[in-house]
Amino acid sequence: MPIYAYRCPHCELEFDKLVRADTVVTCPRCGAADVAKQVALTAPQGKSKAIVARARAQAAKEGHFSHYSAAERAKVR
Ligand SMILES: [Zn+2]
Repeated sequence: MPIYAYRCPHCELEFDKLVRADTVVTCPRCGAADVAKQVALTAPQGKSKAIVARARAQAAKEGHFSHYSAAERAKVR
């Protein structure tokens, strides 16, 4: 089963979800059912760490470190 990255057009939450063929994906924050699949971020099961790494790289680029633990922040800086 693949893990897909989704983005909610209503509250702009981005999240990953393990999806079966019959799964109806809804936003975990606001419950919207018309979330958009992020095709570019699709990854095979077990590769969700790569998605996290990418999100962290983006966060670092934007200058905030909210995804990092204190120990990891020390390494980055
Ligand atoms: Zn939402």
